[in-house]
Amino acid sequence: METAAALSGIGVHLFRAGVWKPRTRPGSFEGNGIEAMEWLQEAKREYKIPVTVEVAEPEHIEQALKHNIDVLWVGARTTVNPFQVQHLADALKGVGIPVMVKNPVNADVDLWQGAIERFEQAGAKEVAAIHRGFSGYTPAAGYRNQPNWPVPIELKRRRPELAVICDPSHITGNRNRIAEVAQKAMDMHFDGLMIETHPHPDEAWSDAAQQVTPQMLREILLNLVVREEFTQDMSGLVQLEYLRQLMDSLDAEIIDLVAKRMELSEQMGEVKRACNMTAFQPGRWREIVETRGERAETHQLSKEFIIELYEKIHHESIRKQLLILENNKPAVNGDII
Ligand code: PEP
Ligand code: MN
Repeated sequence: METAAALSGIGVHLFRAGVWKPRTRPGSFEGNGIEAMEWLQEAKREYKIPVTVEVAEPEHIEQALKHNIDVLWVGARTTVNPFQVQHLADALKGVGIPVMVKNPVNADVDLWQGAIERFEQAGAKEVAAIHRGFSGYTPAAGYRNQPNWPVPIELKRRRPELAVICDPSHITGNRNRIAEVAQKAMDMHFDGLMIETHPHPDEAWSDAAQQVTPQMLREILLNLVVREEFTQDMSGLVQLEYLRQLMDSLDAEIIDLVAKRMELSEQMGEVKRACNMTAFQPGRWREIVETRGERAETHQLSKEFIIELYEKIHHESIRKQLLILENNKPAVNGDII
């Protein structure tokens, strides 16, 4: 109630609370269960704010509906399991309550989309996706769950009308980095934010390190720069149009060059076949990584980015050369075309 009171009037549209908490290891706080439903109803009544809970079992859905919960969300640990998602979707057939689907713990856009579709097929009219990052053995760049932005971007490309919300609390696992990730989500055209809040963050019974006080949340929201996809500013539009045309023609050149490079790879494949050589030569690949990486740096380009790009290009070259090696019988001496 203290949190709900502090949040009322700062522009929060939905009040989240974990009544049942999926915990990674046993023995941690697993939520207050059904008793907490009453508290949520009280917060909803008192502060006129719609409320949402995580559901992971059909009984959770039954209880949530019985207690007038406005929106449901499905956690990352549930989205990974199509059987369980289908059970939840079946329990929602014909109900029409909005559902938010967190990404699965692994960076699999099909699995995420599939869970969303199961709810849609069960008749849910309003479904949103929540990006909460992806877990790994060594979380990179100090995140609790690696954001891997191309995954939600791909989901939005496939489903442009779908609302995509970002959960910087579970991405960062760190209250001091929430503002930075929230801003990034706004700059990447996300439709909303889910942020965990606690009046005494360090005393929170779950995920204490990522809780912000309502006051801190207020500041985060006030400092957010919310940008638009489109502008009415004519001079900005003209400038953008000009730059986009330049970019379109550069991209055409890049694709033409990649095609020429692939032609060379195929010719090399023929030579390798004739000489009974392997398609992949580790020494040559090391040389490519080194020289392309160095060249990238002379243009202030990130070495990692160019090497990643070359990994993709090289992989495609090898694939083409393997086809050549497979489709032809071993060479007879001197059979160079
Ligand atoms: C949560 O939102 O509290 C939660 C358990 O998150 P996730 O499903 O993203 O791990
Ligand atoms: Mn949490």
